[in-house]
Amino acid sequence: MEVRWLFVYSQTMNIDEIKELLSSPKNIVITTHKNPDGDAIGSSLALLHYLLSLGHNALVITPNEYPDFLKWMPGEDTVLKYNGQAQVAQSKIKEADLIFTLDFNHLSRSGDMEDTLAKANTTFVMIDHHQQPDSYATYVYSDTEMSSTCQMIYHFIEKLDDLDKITPEIASCIYVGIMTDTGSFRFRSTTSKTHQVVADLIDYGADNTSIHERVYDTNTLSRLQLKGVALKNLKVLQEYSTAYITMSQKELDQHNFKKGDTEGFVNIGLSIEGIKFAVIFIENRKEGIIKISLRSKGDFSVNEFSRSHFEGGGHHNAAGGKSNLSLSDTVGKFISILPSYNKLLNQ
Ligand code: 5GP
Ligand code: MN
Repeated sequence: MEVRWLFVYSQTMNIDEIKELLSSPKNIVITTHKNPDGDAIGSSLALLHYLLSLGHNALVITPNEYPDFLKWMPGEDTVLKYNGQAQVAQSKIKEADLIFTLDFNHLSRSGDMEDTLAKANTTFVMIDHHQQPDSYATYVYSDTEMSSTCQMIYHFIEKLDDLDKITPEIASCIYVGIMTDTGSFRFRSTTSKTHQVVADLIDYGADNTSIHERVYDTNTLSRLQLKGVALKNLKVLQEYSTAYITMSQKELDQHNFKKGDTEGFVNIGLSIEGIKFAVIFIENRKEGIIKISLRSKGDFSVNEFSRSHFEGGGHHNAAGGKSNLSLSDTVGKFISILPSYNKLLNQ
């Protein structure tokens, strides 16, 4: 299959074919990765509102549920969840003239939707900022330097000469993903361009203060107490500039765990002076896996680490992965790997 790169690392592009595709009404499905985060939902809903305003029949389908702190977002109530409504989702995917896959670059990231997407005989457009993109899409806008897929949606609309179509709803959705993926504008991926885009979004009607409150000020007592457990379980391996946290299913159950409750916990370890590498291991009995989140500062690549040892990947400084071992065996494996990274971790 010939892959037509829309913009390779964002500079060169041929957007005319996309303009042509979008010039008449289409059935469009927008989808994103399993366990969607702020960037996944933000980019999907922003694109949804934009495509609806162009007169398309568009729909967002997610592989599964997402956290409650995203459930105020405009258009969120129209999202179809594949794991609850597989048959409807499958027929929508079959009917689609165009499928946008956002914030992921390998169909295996779409969970139970993978098969249905792989069999869909239609045109795929990938918009994503993760490393090592796969080649399932006809049109690829991949830029690993970008702060977020949401920022890329802004540039996508910009390249289509449609910035004037950005409504307060679209601006708010884009704002959410830039904010969450940059750790509120602090990670290395935050550039002056990111700030310029964010400034424009406020001018287009994004209510920045209210968005921060809705996404971050949503603690419950049990979630704060769960954070206490995370702090108690935090271990520091000074010789490897590494910190890690474990959360067992039992601990999650005792604190009324809901999706999103452990969001951000992995960063606790990274805030310790001298720590360059932080990991959280979260037991998921239902799926029979340990879900792993990895973060780093500076040159240490958690994308490489996770890809090599924990069936995952992501970005240079933020990645995810999983393990089929028990929680304690997973931690044992992790600790046994660290000596081979001694040099990189102590540079
Ligand atoms: P998080 O730790 O917040 O779940 O994910 C961090 C980053 O890694 C996100 O950009 C996410 O999309 C990516 N990521 C999370 N889990 C996986 C995984 O299992 N495989 C791959 N390839 N990427 C992941
Ligand atoms: Mn993202």
